[in-house]
Amino acid sequence: MRYDTRMRLAPQIALPIGLVYAFICCQTSSGQQPSTPQKIDEKPKAQVRPNDAGAAIPTRFDMLRGSYGPFRANNDLLYYHLDIRVDPEQKTIRGKNTIRFRMLHDGTRIQLDLDEALSIDKIILGNDSLKFERDTGAVFVDFPRTLRTGQVYSIDFYYSGHPKETGRFGGITFKKDPAGRTWINTACEETGASIWWPNKDQWRDEVESMDISVAVPSGLTDVSNGHLLGKTDLGDGYTRWDWHVSYPINNYDVSLNIGDYVHYSDKLGDLPLDFYVLPEDLERSKPQFAQAKGMIEAYQHYFGPYPFAKDGYKLIEAPYSGMEHQSAVTYGNLFKNGYMGRDWTGVGISPRFDFIIIHESGHEWFGNAVSAADHADMWIHEGWTTYLESLYVEYRWGKDDALKYLSGYRPKVHNLRPIVAERDVNADPTEDQYFKGALMLNTLRSVVNDDAKWWALLRGCYQRFKYQNILTEDVIAYFNLHSGMNLTPIFNQYLRHAAIPRLELMFGEAPGSVMYKWNADEPSFAMPVRVGMQGHWQTIHPTTKWQSMKTSLTKDELQVDLDHFYVDVSRQ
Ligand SMILES: [Zn+2]
Repeated sequence: MRYDTRMRLAPQIALPIGLVYAFICCQTSSGQQPSTPQKIDEKPKAQVRPNDAGAAIPTRFDMLRGSYGPFRANNDLLYYHLDIRVDPEQKTIRGKNTIRFRMLHDGTRIQLDLDEALSIDKIILGNDSLKFERDTGAVFVDFPRTLRTGQVYSIDFYYSGHPKETGRFGGITFKKDPAGRTWINTACEETGASIWWPNKDQWRDEVESMDISVAVPSGLTDVSNGHLLGKTDLGDGYTRWDWHVSYPINNYDVSLNIGDYVHYSDKLGDLPLDFYVLPEDLERSKPQFAQAKGMIEAYQHYFGPYPFAKDGYKLIEAPYSGMEHQSAVTYGNLFKNGYMGRDWTGVGISPRFDFIIIHESGHEWFGNAVSAADHADMWIHEGWTTYLESLYVEYRWGKDDALKYLSGYRPKVHNLRPIVAERDVNADPTEDQYFKGALMLNTLRSVVNDDAKWWALLRGCYQRFKYQNILTEDVIAYFNLHSGMNLTPIFNQYLRHAAIPRLELMFGEAPGSVMYKWNADEPSFAMPVRVGMQGHWQTIHPTTKWQSMKTSLTKDELQVDLDHFYVDVSRQ
């Protein structure tokens, strides 16, 4: 559970163009007609979405996964105990998730999620075996008696089967490491955690804490999230690894890493740092993973203490590039600087550090501690964390290098659709959420134009929302309130429209003056910007109405400070 913003966030049902929303009924196993709100797609193939070119049309699965319907909103997650046995030979999982929740409204039904490839063996409340209905990835669980508002209930959800591998990182993969040993890993942000375990698979609600118990063939290690409580030899060839997570956690952050890991540890002050790698990578991992300390120091400088101190910080080798699993960051960046050995932003800065350690661990602050409440607002994870990379560069090497690093993001932005996607439909935002999100934050720093104030805003925003699930509106409201400025049109232009603001400069026939205004989608868009020449910048305050200023610079000489402002410029 996360308080504050989440509690006042009513489920938002946006009405996208071309979709018809209706309440439809389906037959349940008990013959009742539930009032599950469904959204039906009128003419899926004919839809054209203004401002959303390239966004996938949501399927029924997406509707059920993405919306925060009444059978999700009627309860509040408190705790999971995922207790499973993983069979590497059969490539199967068997076990249960104990799900504790508090009812927010009286009800007889809740919605959970589990991929259709997995079997539901039984769902138990006390002595009652509960009825359930599956609908694509959703599992609607029915209770024989009304669950009462304010009461806490705990159910055991037993499941088994062979989870399917899907998505960029596989969701869950049953692989062999390069030496041919068992290597099983999860990375399911894109596909959803219910690809391999039953949970309330959405972003708005989180448990307050979690236990993860994973039985694996003895000799193998499971590294999951949180603090290692211990391991128990089960006497049947399996050993159970017990991990305890002391904080709210995103479902997709919950992870398995099962392999022939070797472990070493270190400390940063009181914070335990634990590292798990394949045996042959032990020596080369040590100098690379030493970067973790400097990374944590940098982010603590800007935002405050590492958010999951009781769980410690871990880096775990995995067969994909990396993932921000909370307190258990997975790493597959070849023990090289840059991104897979390449210069990530192409300007000579990223070869100085390991991109995966710096980026994925940055998510501990933005993504894991401060979390988005909807996929559509995922820039709160990725735009922020991409900006954090530049803060790491600034902390280590100064602002000039940070600006140079950020400038490398410009060619990566496409500006084809808005960063904030459609809510409640499991939407995947455009990749612009990373680079454009970071460039927007860098621009806002220049708009605020007072670094002491900017650092206070960053830290304050993080501290205000840590351990919570928020929406874009929450970030904007915080910045407006604490900057004393109306930054809404600026945020909206960068986040809710495809195009960035374009500064239009019009030089007259006679030298000595220039007219200027913003071309932007936001009607009240106004943003200061620096123009002139390097070293001799002058701040002007364009709006969407023409203004003029005197200048001795010609059309070819007058520059715009594009290092500090991510804008387009047109000259005529
Ligand atoms: Zn990321």
